[in-house]
Amino acid sequence: MYLKSLHLRHFRNYLDQRVDFSAPKTILVGNNAQGKSNLLEAVELLATLRSHRAGRDRDLVLEGETIGQVAALLERDTGPIDLTLTLRSNGRRTVALNSEPLRRQLDFLGVLNAVEFSSLDLDLVRGGPEKRRAWLDALLTQLEPIYAHILQQYNHILRQRNALLKQRQQRTPEASLFSPPPEPTEAIDEPGTLELWNTQLAAAGSRVIRRRARVLERLAPLAEKWHQEISGSTEVLQVRYAPNVVLTEDDPAQVQQAFLDKIQQRAIAEQHQGTTLVGPHRDEVEFTINQTPARQYGSQGQQRTLVLALKLAELKLIEEVVGEPPLLLLDDVLAELDLNRQNQLLDAIQDRFQTLITTTHLGSFDAQWLNSSQILAVRAGR
Ligand code: ATP
Ligand code: MG
Repeated sequence: MYLKSLHLRHFRNYLDQRVDFSAPKTILVGNNAQGKSNLLEAVELLATLRSHRAGRDRDLVLEGETIGQVAALLERDTGPIDLTLTLRSNGRRTVALNSEPLRRQLDFLGVLNAVEFSSLDLDLVRGGPEKRRAWLDALLTQLEPIYAHILQQYNHILRQRNALLKQRQQRTPEASLFSPPPEPTEAIDEPGTLELWNTQLAAAGSRVIRRRARVLERLAPLAEKWHQEISGSTEVLQVRYAPNVVLTEDDPAQVQQAFLDKIQQRAIAEQHQGTTLVGPHRDEVEFTINQTPARQYGSQGQQRTLVLALKLAELKLIEEVVGEPPLLLLDDVLAELDLNRQNQLLDAIQDRFQTLITTTHLGSFDAQWLNSSQILAVRAGR
């Protein structure tokens, strides 16, 4: 797929700016705080309806305005598509394809595919398990948009179940000495209520687990192969899904039963802690290099190689599943790679993956990159 143009209106520090992309690689160059990352963020929003930076939509809309818009013209194998995302400071969003408003935001996902790689992605290796879950969930959302709905359902059930556990915890005699009496508005808690939530949690949770397991099964060999190629040495990467409920086979009934069994095992601990201890919200994705956890392993360079391998694997996997190469968004990372890794990346993307790159200076780029790129200067949202 090819992003032909982007139009930002009242988005971040952009008042009204149209950008035409005229080469497979575009370098956005400018000083700090000029709007380079904002532009990539706009593309990320069109791809996933999420931004890894913003919490609230009011931060995305130009300060002092109540409404902002990101629009794009995308060329896909099936033909051109117009995407429009309208953001409001009150949080209400609307999306449209080819000027037709969509009733469900779900239908907007998966139209534009993009892989983003920024220096924040080092958190994938260094950060807590929630970073890896969020990464995996975002990838799944692009590959199978329905996953966004499944995950939402799971999180909804999880919140309800947690509220119930908390409520019960506060009613136990030793807890009531220290905690305020339960709120009068709390949910009705009858015998059997928890069991109902257990069944729902296991049903929704096992759908999440099975999809995550399946996608990692496809991604892992790609990442491992890239890692070998980039590190060019005897370092062996292993990517492994470590679900909280152990999966022995990809069978819905089996996974649900294992889930329910685990809930039984942890029942007393859950009562005590007043929160759900079993389920995909506590899963881990493990990265090991020569059998040592990558988080503890070695240098920044090695961690960067690992993230680069993961990103290249994502590109490939999306291309395989979607049938078209996704966009690659490189936010400030290229200058951090040594020339050898820069070249490996260049070889990997060729002109197949349209790439948007931000940088504060062109000096660190290989002539090959500069000669084959469209170069745009970004200054104060223009
Ligand atoms: P760096 O090189 O430091 O990464 P950058 O060019 O990537 O810089 P961006 O993050 O794209 O910078 O833009 C940051 C600028 O956008 C800041 O000046 C910030 O104040 C401004 N900005 C962010 N959100 C809004 C908003 N809602 N309204 C107006 N300006 C905003
Ligand atoms: Mg930036």
